[in-house]
Amino acid sequence: MSNPILNLNYESAFGNLGDDYSDLVAAEEFPKTILRWRNDRVLTKLGGDPNAVTDEDWINAWGRFAGREELLAMRYHGYQFGSYNPNLGDGRGFLYGQVRSPDGKLYDLGTKGSGRTPYSRGGDGRLTLKGGVREVLAAEMLERMGVRTSQCLSLIETGEGLWRGDEPSPTRSSVMVRVQESHIRFGTFERLHYFGRRDLVATLLEHTVETYYPHLMGERDRYTRFYAELVGRVAELCAQWMAAGFCHAVLNTDNMAITGESFDYGPFAFIPTFDPKFTAAYFDHGGRYSYMNQPGICRLNLELLQEPLKMAMEKTDLEGAIATYDQQYAFHYRALMMQKLGFPGDWDDAFAREFLRGTLEFLNESQVGYHDFFAQLATEFSPDWRSDASQIFPTVEVLQSGGAEMIGKWRSLYHQALQAFPADSAEQIKQRLKTWNPQTVIVRPVIEEIWAEITEKDDWTGFYGLIDRIRA
Ligand code: AMP
Ligand code: MG
Repeated sequence: MSNPILNLNYESAFGNLGDDYSDLVAAEEFPKTILRWRNDRVLTKLGGDPNAVTDEDWINAWGRFAGREELLAMRYHGYQFGSYNPNLGDGRGFLYGQVRSPDGKLYDLGTKGSGRTPYSRGGDGRLTLKGGVREVLAAEMLERMGVRTSQCLSLIETGEGLWRGDEPSPTRSSVMVRVQESHIRFGTFERLHYFGRRDLVATLLEHTVETYYPHLMGERDRYTRFYAELVGRVAELCAQWMAAGFCHAVLNTDNMAITGESFDYGPFAFIPTFDPKFTAAYFDHGGRYSYMNQPGICRLNLELLQEPLKMAMEKTDLEGAIATYDQQYAFHYRALMMQKLGFPGDWDDAFAREFLRGTLEFLNESQVGYHDFFAQLATEFSPDWRSDASQIFPTVEVLQSGGAEMIGKWRSLYHQALQAFPADSAEQIKQRLKTWNPQTVIVRPVIEEIWAEITEKDDWTGFYGLIDRIRA
């Protein structure tokens, strides 16, 4: 019997570009392949039938990589922490394949931890199990919070002991498969510019527009419109991260997808409290990729992308597009925060702005838990709050001097906000609060707790339970 996974609707769009963009590689053979996470939702999205795929099929495809020949390590460079690095590329992963899904979209299946490639440098080509578990959880959480994110399809433990400076070692190993529209990065273009290959930039640009921005095909100014749309998508994505309280941690240009999707979750963290300076990566000493720097860094990365794109298009067109970034970011952020607070995303008058400013000030000064604040607001909300400000959010607590005054000020703002809408909008407000504010957010202690159960007792029930709660 052939493996149904091999019968998905594969297309070699990237491979067909030729060998200037990638290298054929082979997967590692692992001592063990223990299935830890199969994402049947994503399999279904790709057009597969979970009932027809046994765990053995799954492991053969995404743990042993049997039956597919064209495994491609993608070539790219990138700006890492501000310095150009030409020694990058898929060093521990490859493009396993691309699948045309029933919704007509093409998706990349990319691996992480599948072995060494020509781009591994000193690295072992491996992914730690904890790294895999963290990436699965990040993608699930972001998806739940409405962020445009890659999804983890598969996580298989591979039975090796790895040595890492940031985990007690030896630490367990894994191989992951993630799905997103494209793994073409800003750094994929940067590399071509570095080698002065105008021809390859032009080919990749045409491929990008044709495959991922097909609605622009046939337009004479399609490259300008592509870049303008990318600017808009990145502005929106960054606003989604900020509202979700997410700190990506490594916003190098090799971690920015040309489709404006969020991907590659390493030392990420969800902020515990609203702290602009919060920095997720222990090695980010200057706080370059801190929570509050993310919008500016994303803009900078879009600006850096202009260098290669200038080989195929006009500088002034690129500059015109990036000039709209700040405004687009602010627009999306305001809309998302309004929804988190229970109000319509398009509410934008003088008071709405004051309300948002006041709420952020409260979150910053009080240092209440960012996610608890919104989760509890969602559970406690009552229509009675509209008539009586003193009843608003009874359990919110600020354990520092001036706490009562801060809360009083915020309650009065929330009260005014409620009064700006008719009494019969209460149900909609409650619904929005529920939709936009999950009860479970994977702040670090939550992940550490399930990781402790895995590492101490090989007990995975906490991990699966957490995914259920995230999805609930
Ligand atoms: P990242 O910080 O995960 O985005 O990775 C940056 C670069 O380092 C990419 O080129 C990766 O493929 C490479 N890399 C990261 N970890 C390893 C590893 N353990 N072995 C080989 N290459 C790696
Ligand atoms: Mg990366």
